[in-house]
Amino acid sequence: MNHLHVLWVCGLLLLLSGCSPPPEPEFHDQYLAFGTLIDLTLYGVDHAQATRVSAEIERQFQQWHHDWHAWQPGKLTTINAGLASLQPVAVGADMLPLLTEANRMARLSNNLFNPVIGGLIALWGFQGNPLPPGTTPDPAVIDAWLKQAPTVDDITIEGNRIRSRNPAAAYDLGGFAKGYALDRVVEMLHARGIGNAIINAGGNLRAIGRHGNRPWNIGIRNPRGAGLLAGIRCNDNCSVLTSGDYERLFEVNGHRYHHILDPRTGYPATGTEAVTVVHESAALADAASTALFVAGTEQWLTIARQMGIDRALLVDSKGVIHMTPAMQAITTLAEGIDAPVVIDSPQ
Ligand code: ADP
Ligand code: MG
Repeated sequence: MNHLHVLWVCGLLLLLSGCSPPPEPEFHDQYLAFGTLIDLTLYGVDHAQATRVSAEIERQFQQWHHDWHAWQPGKLTTINAGLASLQPVAVGADMLPLLTEANRMARLSNNLFNPVIGGLIALWGFQGNPLPPGTTPDPAVIDAWLKQAPTVDDITIEGNRIRSRNPAAAYDLGGFAKGYALDRVVEMLHARGIGNAIINAGGNLRAIGRHGNRPWNIGIRNPRGAGLLAGIRCNDNCSVLTSGDYERLFEVNGHRYHHILDPRTGYPATGTEAVTVVHESAALADAASTALFVAGTEQWLTIARQMGIDRALLVDSKGVIHMTPAMQAITTLAEGIDAPVVIDSPQ
């Protein structure tokens, strides 16, 4: 028997029963929430515990999905109704940190990440109310919204009460909820003694610990065409969040209207195809990926610095890949990607 053969036999045994050392158990589960597929991988956790924890996480996601929904009746729509009435409204202890954090992110981003533009998102048909095919919103209606221009500066939170002085302010946490939820899931995992895991919400993920004896390696999607743009090496604890113009969109006369809106113009942000942000906090990375997308090549490095982001990648509408030096250090472009690359520091 030659060596190759031995390897092969051992490989077969591994499949059947496992050569020593036994592989660490890897557990996978999937659920639907936030309009996307949530994918959980636990590494080195016994099956019974993994199943229990995963069921708990799934229940939590269903609850969040319901409570944080921007248009299906729930806690957030009740809060939005209160804000529109300009009267103070009570917020549950579970919702307060979510809204407080979203507001803080908005301020850090000069309101390019703006969580109270629910009204504008609805005007564009991205709240489950698609516009008639071939149409875009009436520019006069967008203008009217721009005159009201709600931001979190219109919102006051005192104790457990929230109030708006602008009737157009309505929370839509589509650019933040997934990241915030990923951080809460990791807290749950840590509390249950689980240190090696990856939780992926439709390509937005947080990874903790390691994948056996190697770090997690995260692929990010090519915004144009199928396949990967790059791989990102993720040490110990990192979140990788992407905002892309390909996620939700419609076309009118060959022009794509996508779901990331520029609160300054009232129209989908132009000049960017995708932004990926890497940070320990998934909540921060989520808000930042949306904000840097809107900021575009002119401003993204300023906003990144302001938000405390040092690892970010932006693909502009010409296909040029911009990266910060710290991002470049952990990124390998996928085979066949030969786009120009520009390296620039947050400033
Ligand atoms: P994805 O949801 O595809 O991962 P994002 O994190 O960028 O991408 O979130 C996009 C969603 O965020 C939109 O569907 C909308 O609900 C909301 N949104 C759009 N524009 C903004 C903005 N400028 N600031 C905050 N949220 C936004
Ligand atoms: Mg985001």
